[in-house]
Amino acid sequence: MKLCSKCKQKKELTEFRKYDACRDGLNCWCNECCSKYAKQHYQNDDENVKRRTEASEHCKPLLNEEFRIVAGCQRTWVSNLGRVLTKTKWGISHIRKPVLRKGSPYYQIYINEPPRHITYIHVLVCETFHGSRPKGLTKKGKPLYQVSHKDNNPTNNNANNLEWATVKENFNNSRHYFGMKKGFKHSEETKQKMKGNRNACRKNRHNALLKRNNQRIPETDINVWEVK
Ligand SMILES: [Zn+2]
Repeated sequence: MKLCSKCKQKKELTEFRKYDACRDGLNCWCNECCSKYAKQHYQNDDENVKRRTEASEHCKPLLNEEFRIVAGCQRTWVSNLGRVLTKTKWGISHIRKPVLRKGSPYYQIYINEPPRHITYIHVLVCETFHGSRPKGLTKKGKPLYQVSHKDNNPTNNNANNLEWATVKENFNNSRHYFGMKKGFKHSEETKQKMKGNRNACRKNRHNALLKRNNQRIPETDINVWEVK
Protein backbone atom coordinates (compact mmCIF):
# COMPACT_ATOMS: atom_id res chain seq x y z
CA MET A 1 0.00 0.00 0.00
CA LYS A 2 1.10 3.54 -0.75
CA LEU A 3 -0.21 6.96 0.24
CA CYS A 4 -1.28 9.28 -2.60
CA SER A 5 -0.01 12.76 -1.86
CA LYS A 6 -2.84 14.40 -3.84
CA CYS A 7 -6.01 12.80 -2.46
CA LYS A 8 -4.40 11.50 0.81
CA GLN A 9 -5.74 7.95 0.43
CA LYS A 10 -3.92 4.65 0.79
CA LYS A 11 -4.07 2.61 -2.43
CA GLU A 12 -2.47 -0.53 -3.80
CA LEU A 13 0.81 -0.38 -5.71
CA THR A 14 -0.84 -1.41 -8.98
CA GLU A 15 -2.69 1.92 -9.06
CA PHE A 16 0.49 3.93 -9.42
CA ARG A 17 2.40 4.45 -12.63
CA LYS A 18 6.13 3.86 -12.99
CA TYR A 19 8.27 6.92 -12.44
CA ASP A 20 12.02 6.47 -12.18
CA ALA A 21 12.74 9.82 -10.55
CA CYS A 22 10.94 8.77 -7.35
CA ARG A 23 12.74 6.72 -4.68
CA ASP A 24 10.49 3.65 -4.94
CA GLY A 25 10.16 3.92 -8.72
CA LEU A 26 6.44 4.82 -8.61
CA ASN A 27 4.60 8.09 -9.14
CA CYS A 28 3.53 9.94 -5.99
CA TRP A 29 0.02 10.59 -7.36
CA CYS A 30 -2.41 7.75 -8.08
CA ASN A 31 -3.75 7.14 -11.58
CA GLU A 32 -7.14 8.74 -10.87
CA CYS A 33 -5.61 11.98 -9.65
CA CYS A 34 -3.24 12.10 -12.62
CA SER A 35 -5.98 11.70 -15.21
CA LYS A 36 -8.23 14.24 -13.46
CA TYR A 37 -5.42 16.78 -13.42
CA ALA A 38 -4.61 16.18 -17.10
CA LYS A 39 -8.24 16.68 -18.17
CA GLN A 40 -8.59 19.93 -16.20
CA HIS A 41 -5.29 21.20 -17.50
CA TYR A 42 -6.31 20.50 -21.10
CA GLN A 43 -9.64 22.33 -20.72
CA ASN A 44 -8.13 25.33 -18.95
CA ASP A 45 -5.28 25.65 -21.44
CA ASP A 46 -6.18 28.94 -23.15
CA GLU A 47 -3.47 28.74 -25.79
CA ASN A 48 -4.61 25.33 -26.92
CA VAL A 49 -8.22 26.48 -27.29
CA LYS A 50 -7.18 29.64 -29.11
CA ARG A 51 -5.00 27.69 -31.52
CA ARG A 52 -7.82 25.32 -32.41
CA THR A 53 -10.43 28.07 -32.93
CA GLU A 54 -8.06 30.14 -35.07
CA ALA A 55 -7.27 27.15 -37.21
CA SER A 56 -10.95 26.30 -37.61
CA GLU A 57 -11.61 29.62 -39.33
CA HIS A 58 -8.82 28.93 -41.78
CA CYS A 59 -10.10 25.41 -42.49
CA LYS A 60 -13.65 26.46 -43.33
CA PRO A 61 -14.62 26.21 -47.02
CA LEU A 62 -13.61 29.26 -49.07
CA LEU A 63 -15.85 31.11 -51.57
CA ASN A 64 -17.44 28.68 -54.06
CA GLU A 65 -15.59 25.77 -52.48
CA GLU A 66 -17.20 22.37 -52.11
CA PHE A 67 -15.74 19.34 -50.36
CA ARG A 68 -16.63 15.85 -51.58
CA ILE A 69 -15.54 12.53 -50.14
CA VAL A 70 -12.95 10.57 -52.12
CA ALA A 71 -14.21 7.27 -53.55
CA GLY A 72 -13.00 4.30 -51.52
CA CYS A 73 -12.01 6.46 -48.53
CA GLN A 74 -13.76 7.17 -45.25
CA ARG A 75 -11.68 10.01 -43.80
CA THR A 76 -10.45 11.94 -46.88
CA TRP A 77 -12.19 14.79 -48.69
CA VAL A 78 -11.13 16.86 -51.70
CA SER A 79 -12.45 20.23 -52.83
CA ASN A 80 -12.96 21.71 -56.27
CA LEU A 81 -10.11 24.14 -55.53
CA GLY A 82 -7.67 21.25 -55.08
CA ARG A 83 -7.44 21.23 -51.28
CA VAL A 84 -7.35 17.89 -49.45
CA LEU A 85 -8.88 17.47 -45.98
CA THR A 86 -8.49 14.43 -43.73
CA LYS A 87 -10.04 13.53 -40.41
CA THR A 88 -8.25 11.56 -37.70
CA LYS A 89 -9.83 8.75 -35.70
CA TRP A 90 -10.58 11.24 -32.92
CA GLY A 91 -12.58 13.57 -35.20
CA ILE A 92 -9.88 16.22 -35.67
CA SER A 93 -9.47 17.50 -39.25
CA HIS A 94 -6.40 18.70 -41.08
CA ILE A 95 -6.00 20.65 -44.33
CA ARG A 96 -3.16 18.71 -45.92
CA LYS A 97 -0.04 20.29 -47.30
CA PRO A 98 0.57 19.31 -50.95
CA VAL A 99 3.96 17.89 -51.84
CA LEU A 100 6.18 18.67 -54.84
CA ARG A 101 8.55 15.75 -55.39
CA LYS A 102 11.72 15.69 -57.43
CA GLY A 103 11.29 15.47 -61.18
CA SER A 104 7.55 16.06 -61.23
CA PRO A 105 5.74 19.40 -61.58
CA TYR A 106 2.47 17.97 -60.21
CA TYR A 107 1.28 18.17 -56.61
CA GLN A 108 1.05 14.84 -54.82
CA ILE A 109 -0.52 13.69 -51.56
CA TYR A 110 -0.09 10.68 -49.27
CA ILE A 111 -3.40 9.01 -48.44
CA ASN A 112 -3.10 7.79 -44.87
CA GLU A 113 -5.76 5.09 -44.80
CA PRO A 114 -5.71 1.60 -46.26
CA PRO A 115 -4.74 1.00 -48.98
CA ARG A 116 -2.05 3.58 -48.17
CA HIS A 117 -0.51 5.12 -51.27
CA ILE A 118 0.68 8.34 -52.91
CA THR A 119 -1.53 9.90 -55.59
CA TYR A 120 -1.67 13.02 -57.71
CA ILE A 121 -4.13 15.66 -56.53
CA HIS A 122 -5.35 16.49 -60.04
CA VAL A 123 -6.40 12.86 -60.50
CA LEU A 124 -8.33 12.91 -57.21
CA VAL A 125 -10.14 16.13 -58.20
CA CYS A 126 -10.97 14.90 -61.68
CA GLU A 127 -12.24 11.55 -60.44
CA THR A 128 -14.51 13.09 -57.79
CA PHE A 129 -15.89 15.98 -59.86
CA HIS A 130 -15.92 14.63 -63.45
CA GLY A 131 -16.66 10.96 -62.91
CA SER A 132 -14.27 8.05 -62.92
CA ARG A 133 -11.62 7.54 -65.62
CA PRO A 134 -13.11 6.38 -68.98
CA LYS A 135 -12.08 2.85 -69.90
CA GLY A 136 -9.55 2.10 -72.60
CA LEU A 137 -5.92 1.07 -72.95
CA THR A 138 -3.09 2.16 -75.22
CA LYS A 139 -0.95 -0.27 -77.19
CA LYS A 140 1.56 -0.39 -74.31
CA GLY A 141 -1.15 -1.32 -71.80
CA LYS A 142 -1.33 2.06 -70.06
CA PRO A 143 -4.64 3.89 -69.46
CA LEU A 144 -5.80 5.74 -72.57
CA TYR A 145 -7.36 8.70 -70.76
CA GLN A 146 -5.29 11.20 -68.79
CA VAL A 147 -6.10 14.34 -66.85
CA SER A 148 -5.49 17.43 -68.98
CA HIS A 149 -4.84 20.88 -67.50
CA LYS A 150 -6.63 23.33 -69.80
CA ASP A 151 -4.35 26.31 -69.04
CA ASN A 152 -1.23 24.09 -69.06
CA ASN A 153 -0.39 25.10 -65.49
CA PRO A 154 0.36 21.82 -63.72
CA THR A 155 -0.25 23.26 -60.24
CA ASN A 156 -3.68 24.76 -61.00
CA ASN A 157 -5.89 21.93 -59.74
CA ASN A 158 -9.20 23.79 -59.98
CA ALA A 159 -11.98 21.46 -61.09
CA ASN A 160 -12.92 23.84 -63.93
CA ASN A 161 -9.35 23.59 -65.22
CA LEU A 162 -9.31 19.79 -65.47
CA GLU A 163 -10.84 17.34 -67.93
CA TRP A 164 -10.37 13.78 -69.18
CA ALA A 165 -8.48 13.67 -72.48
CA THR A 166 -6.81 10.96 -74.53
CA VAL A 167 -3.03 10.70 -74.56
CA LYS A 168 -2.84 12.30 -78.01
CA GLU A 169 -5.08 15.25 -77.11
CA ASN A 170 -3.14 15.88 -73.93
CA PHE A 171 0.17 15.73 -75.79
CA ASN A 172 -1.03 18.18 -78.45
CA ASN A 173 -2.20 20.60 -75.75
CA SER A 174 1.15 20.48 -74.02
CA ARG A 175 2.99 21.11 -77.29
CA HIS A 176 1.65 24.66 -77.35
CA TYR A 177 2.91 25.06 -73.82
CA PHE A 178 6.49 24.18 -74.71
CA GLY A 179 6.38 26.54 -77.71
CA MET A 180 6.22 23.78 -80.33
CA LYS A 181 3.73 23.94 -83.15
CA LYS A 182 2.30 20.96 -85.00
CA GLY A 183 4.88 19.16 -87.07
CA PHE A 184 7.76 20.49 -84.95
CA LYS A 185 10.91 18.35 -85.00
CA HIS A 186 14.28 18.75 -83.31
CA SER A 187 17.31 19.18 -85.60
CA GLU A 188 19.83 16.34 -85.63
CA GLU A 189 22.40 18.33 -83.67
CA THR A 190 20.04 18.84 -80.77
CA LYS A 191 19.00 15.20 -80.96
CA GLN A 192 22.61 14.11 -80.48
CA LYS A 193 23.01 16.59 -77.62
CA MET A 194 19.90 15.25 -75.93
CA LYS A 195 21.16 11.70 -76.12
CA GLY A 196 24.10 12.54 -73.89
CA ASN A 197 22.36 14.54 -71.20
CA ARG A 198 18.74 13.61 -71.16
CA ASN A 199 18.57 14.10 -67.41
CA ALA A 200 19.88 17.65 -67.76
CA CYS A 201 17.14 18.40 -70.29
CA ARG A 202 14.53 17.08 -67.89
CA LYS A 203 15.94 19.21 -65.10
CA ASN A 204 15.82 22.35 -67.26
CA ARG A 205 12.24 21.65 -68.27
CA HIS A 206 11.24 21.05 -64.65
CA ASN A 207 12.85 24.32 -63.54
CA ALA A 208 11.14 26.22 -66.37
CA LEU A 209 7.81 24.77 -65.28
CA LEU A 210 8.36 25.83 -61.68
CA LYS A 211 9.24 29.38 -62.78
CA ARG A 212 6.01 29.72 -64.71
CA ASN A 213 3.86 28.58 -61.84
CA ASN A 214 3.02 31.76 -60.04
CA GLN A 215 -0.41 30.54 -58.97
CA ARG A 216 0.48 28.22 -56.17
CA ILE A 217 -1.68 26.96 -53.38
CA PRO A 218 -0.59 28.98 -50.33
CA GLU A 219 1.53 26.80 -48.12
CA THR A 220 -0.10 26.29 -44.76
CA ASP A 221 1.01 24.61 -41.59
CA ILE A 222 -0.98 21.66 -40.34
CA ASN A 223 -4.19 23.06 -38.92
CA VAL A 224 -6.16 21.35 -36.20
CA TRP A 225 -9.81 21.87 -35.41
CA GLU A 226 -12.64 19.82 -34.01
CA VAL A 227 -15.52 18.71 -36.23
CA LYS A 228 -18.94 19.06 -34.66
ZN1 LIG B 1 -4.89 10.09 -5.50
